[in-house]
Formats: sequence, C-alpha cells, structure tokens
Amino acid sequence: MTVRVLLLSLALLAAWSAPAAAIEEPCTAELTAMGGIPIKLSAWCMDETVFDHVVHGIEAELAALERMMSAHTDTGVVAMINRHGLAGGPCPAPLMRVLEAAQQVSADTGGAFDVTVRPLITLWKQAAAEGRLPALDEREAALARVGYGAVTLGENRVQVGREGISVDLGGVAKGYFGDVAIARLRQAGSCRCIADVGADLVAARDPEERPFRIGIRSPWGEGLMGTITADGGAVVTSGDYERYVTIDGHRYSHIVDPRTGMPIEGMHSVTVLAPTGVEADALATGIYVMGLDEGSALVESRKDLEAIIVADDPQAPGNQRVFISSGLVDRFRWSEDVLPDTITRP
Ligand code: ADP
Ligand code: MG
Repeated sequence: MTVRVLLLSLALLAAWSAPAAAIEEPCTAELTAMGGIPIKLSAWCMDETVFDHVVHGIEAELAALERMMSAHTDTGVVAMINRHGLAGGPCPAPLMRVLEAAQQVSADTGGAFDVTVRPLITLWKQAAAEGRLPALDEREAALARVGYGAVTLGENRVQVGREGISVDLGGVAKGYFGDVAIARLRQAGSCRCIADVGADLVAARDPEERPFRIGIRSPWGEGLMGTITADGGAVVTSGDYERYVTIDGHRYSHIVDPRTGMPIEGMHSVTVLAPTGVEADALATGIYVMGLDEGSALVESRKDLEAIIVADDPQAPGNQRVFISSGLVDRFRWSEDVLPDTITRP
C-alpha cells in the first residue's frame, strides 16, 4: 500500500515536471488531513516565506473544515445535522457549498451519487467482515435509510426530512479540500499551483503559464495509463484497484449503487475533469455507478466535463473498453510501457 502510494506520487511528480520551457522550481509542502490522507501542495511564483505562511493557514482551515464536515465527531455541524436532522439548523457557508454541489451531482447522475449512502457502505463492510453477503432484508433496511431527496437545502439551512437518513461527505471532501487550497494559493499570488489531496488533483494558473501535464493512474497495475494536458481545474479518479471488500473470494467495490444497494461490478476506473474539485470528486463516483454507456453520455452532453472510463465490455477484444471523451482525445497520451496489448484502444 505505502509502496504503491509512493510509486504513484513519484509518477505524478514526474508527470508534472516541466515540458520544454521549464520555469523556476515550485515551493512545495506536504500535510495530512482526514485521518492521514496526504496533501501535497506545489506553487510557483511565490516567495518561500509567504508560501509557508499560506500553507499554515491552509492547514488550519482544512482542520476546521474537517471538524465541521465529519459525520464521526460529536460536535461537528454535519454530526449535529445527522442527530437533530429533522429540526434542521443554520448551515455554515462552506458546508452549504459542498452540499449544494453534491445534491446537484445527485440530480445530474439520476441519484447514482448520493451523500446519504453510508448505511449501505456499513452493511457491506460488516457482512464482509463476517464473510457473508448481506441478506435481502438487511439490504432493504439499509436502502430505506438512503435517499438524497430527503435532504433539502434552503437559505443557509439544511433539512433532513426522513428518520434514519444521515449525510456523509466522505465521497466529496477531498475534492473540496483541493478547491480550498488552490483558492488560498491563488489569493496569495501564486501564478501556477497544484493541490494533490490523496491523488485528487486541483490546479490553477495564470493564462500565460504552462498548461499542466497530469498522470492518469493505470487500473491494470503500477504506473500510469497515460498523461493528459489540462489548463487547470480538477482531475479525480475513482478506481476499483485500491479499496474493496472480498466475500467468498469475490471482490466487491467500495462504491455502491444507492438505488439497488449493490456494489458496482465491471468498472475499473473513472477519471473526471471538471471545473472544481468538489464536482469532479462527486462525478467520478457518480459516473462509476452509472457505468460506461450512461456515464459517457453524460460527459459528452456537458461542455464543462471530460472523462476517461475503463470498463468491462464482453463484446470488446480483451473484454475491456476504454472511453476517452471527445474533448480529451487530442490531449491524452498513452504510456506504452503500462498498457497491456489485450486492452482495446478507442
Ligand atoms: P476514494 O475515496 O477511494 O478516492 P471515491 O472518491 O470514489 O473513492 O469515494 C468513495 C467513497 O464514497 C466510498 O468509500 C463511500 O464512502 C462513498 N460512496 C460509495 N458509493 C457512493 C455513492 N454511490 N455515492 C456517494 N458516495 C459513495
Ligand atoms: Mg469521489
């Protein structure tokens, strides 16, 4: 696991290093958040002292956001909404922003992404720990406690309208933390910066600065499946290779369909490029649930989204298909060394 993360970090670092006209080295810093998720910040055109000061500010801000947004503390706002949800309560602006983005993605993905999915995640984890599949009645009981439609957002207010429903922002927080870090680095004058929050990337630059070259993790093994160029925005991947549970020798994804209660099968990785980290993070999970056909249709219908999807396809040679959205085809470059010959190229 650690070796894997390290290799990925090295690969991403290599992928970011300048193409032809290299400018100065960036200032860099590493933090952790959310129980050990590594956050790597790189910023160009910044004085080291100013950078250190901004990084301290980001660290404190993210720690406060984490307390606010965690469902697993006694005092956080989300924890309180979950406990006293039926009464509703005043909602701080950052939480409102994340919930609005999450609910929008739920609507856009037909409920494939759902911030209330936790009872299903817990059920599958428990069953796996006991080496069995969840029973149908257990699945139905968990499904009765899932449904983003029960969460309504008003002017600075969040209302949870059904008993047993609770909000968990674990699937979107990383992307949002990246947005916050990039906003602070830009406000402090960085001309070009990247935030890597547990491999979810957010980046921004002045128009005259070089575009970013970003490595896309391979779902087939160590290393990269390729690289893309991006002007900025967020690049987030949801994959089946890192987090999953095994029951009876069968691997079940950590991403579940909130409409059926079943873990997703046949998807290997979904990389989404979107304007912000919070959207990209939620969309990567949502499109993973939608699958290749519906997911790729959503991406092609939206000018602000691009994606790379790797999924099973019994009709394709090698039984897998790779979708690269039309706006990305010219910006994607395969890494020949990690691509197995059996995989069908678009
Ligand atoms: P990772 O955290 O590994 O990068 P994701 O960003 O895709 O992966 O988030 C996966 C997490 O999101 C799961 O661990 C689970 O808590 C939550 N989740 C799983 N399925 C859904 C879903 N359909 N909608 C929203 N969140 C989900
Ligand atoms: Mg996600």
